[in-house]
Amino acid sequence: MKIISQYTQLNPKLYHQQAAQPLTGAQAGHFNQALAEELQWSEQEQQQWVKYCSGQKSFADFPSLAMVYAGHQFGQWAGQLGDGRGLLVAQLQDRHGKTVDLHLKGAGKTPYSRMGDGRAVLRSVIREYLAGHALNALGVPSSNAIGFTTSTQAIQREKIESGAMLLRTADSHIRLGHFEWINQYAPELLADFVEHCIQWHYPECLDEEQPVLAFAEHVICRTAKMIALWQLHGFAHGVMNTDNLNITGSTLDFGPFGFMERFRPNWINNHSDHHGRYTYQQQPSVAHWNLWVWINNLIPLAQASEKEKFKQDLSNCLAQFEPTFLECYQQGLCAKMGLPHFHKDSFQCAMSFLNILQSEQLDYTQSFIRLQEKQWQVLRDDCLNLHQFDQFVEQYHAIRQNQDQHQLDAEMKQHNPRYILRNHMAQTAIQAAEAGDFSELDRLFKLLTQPYTHQPDLEHAADLAPLASDQAEISVSCSS
Ligand code: AMP
Ligand code: MG
Repeated sequence: MKIISQYTQLNPKLYHQQAAQPLTGAQAGHFNQALAEELQWSEQEQQQWVKYCSGQKSFADFPSLAMVYAGHQFGQWAGQLGDGRGLLVAQLQDRHGKTVDLHLKGAGKTPYSRMGDGRAVLRSVIREYLAGHALNALGVPSSNAIGFTTSTQAIQREKIESGAMLLRTADSHIRLGHFEWINQYAPELLADFVEHCIQWHYPECLDEEQPVLAFAEHVICRTAKMIALWQLHGFAHGVMNTDNLNITGSTLDFGPFGFMERFRPNWINNHSDHHGRYTYQQQPSVAHWNLWVWINNLIPLAQASEKEKFKQDLSNCLAQFEPTFLECYQQGLCAKMGLPHFHKDSFQCAMSFLNILQSEQLDYTQSFIRLQEKQWQVLRDDCLNLHQFDQFVEQYHAIRQNQDQHQLDAEMKQHNPRYILRNHMAQTAIQAAEAGDFSELDRLFKLLTQPYTHQPDLEHAADLAPLASDQAEISVSCSS
């Protein structure tokens, strides 16, 4: 592998160097070999993946470190946070020349652990491992992982669980909350920090007349596009605190996330979110709010005489959020529907379909597959309000009538996954893994590698549908 050291170029106030603290009895969990190859791991390095993924072996020429940051949690200022149970253990160049962070989650206590134990448990590590893989395969920007290890070390959560570690990859671990920490605790570092962020992640902005404004606009637009993709795939992050969004608009810090099954826009996957701040339907406005918090942290970069103008310019950047989100969401939704996005009635027709899914409590992913496969009767049989359904079908055919239907059908295939990571799928794999059997996890990993491709040899009936409505939902909370 090719190690590079970007983060250590920053002022040491921004991190704390320390080594990972291995768990007792570390054992192999799962290894993503394709990703290791992307990251130019040699065969010899790949053979040592268990050691790298359990903190028993460090990466040469990179002093591992915990980053400090702050954040707003559930809308409230939370003060200093930071990597309380993970370390940036290396930065690598992938085979396309891009820099990728390696972060070892569950690596022990750091100065930022507050009341926590610095550890992660097997259950949450498996959920993060599979979800990152699933999102990447769907084409949603996201962290991913090289692999994970389990251990014989007991960790206390609601019950005793096995300690585990995940070697996560991300294009950046710089969070919106980094800027909040700097403004609050070390404002003298802001200009240099922003300069580095631009240089590392948005070098194209250096050619702009006002690089900081161009940077802000890029971060805002990338975040808007990521959220649009979440909405299109029914993904609910669960804890969209400002410390859990990064500056490259890629999904980070999975906790109580979930892929929505029955279509309920006000669905809360996170059982710790008592007020429903992070429901599926709130995600666009929460992201907008987080970015508003974030741009306020850039204001000190302006000269005193230009402050008012700069504030206005930043707010103009933020105004790009909504149109960027809408364009991406509307185009994506029309593609999922097999409707031409330029047609004036397409979006409204798509909304009629979503209304049906909502009122009839139908599965989001499965219904789009049925639409794609033109299983009209199956869809209709699931509806109580047949008038609503028949009206939709009539409008749907009317819009498609004079269009290139082959082209529209081909687009549908590229935009409608057959497989998502349903909570009960993850749960089955977790239960087997906790008993030492990783074969179900391996099956899901393979299945989710090609979410758009029908894999009859690998799929189980339970992968395609939600649990029956009389079965209790799997409870997912912040505890991980
Ligand atoms: P999260 O909501 O999981 O992103 O975590 C919020 C903050 O709590 C971050 O600063 C984490 O590093 C920290 N944290 C979460 N779990 C633990 C833990 N078990 N030990 C130490 N810190 C933790
Ligand atoms: Mg976090």
